[in-house]
Amino acid sequence: MKLRYTRLICVLILLMLSFVLVSAGTIGVPLPKAPGGDYSSDYQGPILSQKLFPTVRPQSPYHTRLVLLGTTGGVGWWPGTDRASSSSALLVGDTIYLIDMGQGSALRLSEALNAGDFVKVNGSRVENGSSTFLANARALFITHLHMDHTADYPSFLLIGSGAGLGTMYDPVTGKLLVPPFQVYGPASRGPLEVDKTNYTGKIVYVDSADPALEIPTPGMRQQTASTLESYAQAINDMTLDNGYRDYTSLVEVHEIGPDPGQPGDIRFEAPGLDLTNETCASMEPFDVYEDGNVRVRAILVDHHQVYPSLAYRFDTADGSVVFSGDTGNNTRGNLQKLAAGADILVHEVIDPAWINLKFGNVTGRPKLAALKIHMQTSHTTIEDAGAVATRCGVKTLVLNHIVPGNTPRSNLLRAQRTFPGKLIIGEDLMVIPVGRPTGGIPV
Ligand SMILES: [Zn+2]
Ligand SMILES: [Zn+2]
Repeated sequence: MKLRYTRLICVLILLMLSFVLVSAGTIGVPLPKAPGGDYSSDYQGPILSQKLFPTVRPQSPYHTRLVLLGTTGGVGWWPGTDRASSSSALLVGDTIYLIDMGQGSALRLSEALNAGDFVKVNGSRVENGSSTFLANARALFITHLHMDHTADYPSFLLIGSGAGLGTMYDPVTGKLLVPPFQVYGPASRGPLEVDKTNYTGKIVYVDSADPALEIPTPGMRQQTASTLESYAQAINDMTLDNGYRDYTSLVEVHEIGPDPGQPGDIRFEAPGLDLTNETCASMEPFDVYEDGNVRVRAILVDHHQVYPSLAYRFDTADGSVVFSGDTGNNTRGNLQKLAAGADILVHEVIDPAWINLKFGNVTGRPKLAALKIHMQTSHTTIEDAGAVATRCGVKTLVLNHIVPGNTPRSNLLRAQRTFPGKLIIGEDLMVIPVGRPTGGIPV
């Protein structure tokens, strides 16, 4: 009896000691604050808000702004740089238009534009639990289906609805509050490209119950559907357990091609184009999209063997911005037609010094020589990008899709040798005003 009494005293002493030590913070970790507590004293808003550029803020004096989200390209992991891969946002007022979504760009999108969603509780500013900034995103335009332009599209589809992406109706009135997000991108290429490497591995096909859909070159619509299918388990968890909206209605896809299959798709004509030898024919710009903010037109560029590979032009009341997409410098005059007189040309570049260093002397090595020629002709060297911008007659050239991502600044400045206008070396999260300031706080 005496022993049991002694044990009880010991346990009580240990419990009291533990309480004193925890309270003093000497062992364990501080307990989290109770849900519903006032976080305002130690929560100062999104940590990354420090990186927001002044013109992204709602009080920007510029109505239209170009935001570079990712400024490198290529299917690789460049050392010594934190550039994300190719992606841009055009902001017209509060409305967001996206161009490409390469790897890393989903994070950049949040860094640039996710100001959070706050409410006042008892006079304190408290986060509302979730962001809604993507409710302002209206459309995405994919230049071509290489992964350095699309790798974060699945992230956007899968995580986006947690930040307001997709169709939304008023639950009481049934009125449409947010229209479905519009996605424009290439249709299926059709046949596979020519094998230039004596490839002996397997070809990847889209799997489908419908044999007609088992193809090796899926377009934007099939890529979207396949992404959702491959994440079916997680998606069904979100809708059935967590109250998320129907993922299959988040976006409306419009394919762009010579023979797309559904209403709302965009058809273009490329007369005389023989896909076994070429992927770009001389043509006229064609309409893709229009609303009260922007008119978007496109044209074929030369990024063989990718097809179609597109450049886009956005005309707004404040000015015009053209995105070259991936292309060699000879677009049969197409880019010059599309970009004629534009305010800003966002053009891809590759550093010829890096090509020479990487491939060296290819004499007697025909495979390597073919790849070197591909690098030189389906992309545009720094000085050639300057020359293209000069021929287009644009005021400002923005170097984008910088390959390699760690290209020295001094090399990029060589575009000035062939372009007398304003040269901007693109950096992730850079904001470039379009047009004149309309008021607000000067930057
Ligand atoms: Zn690319
Ligand atoms: Zn590409």
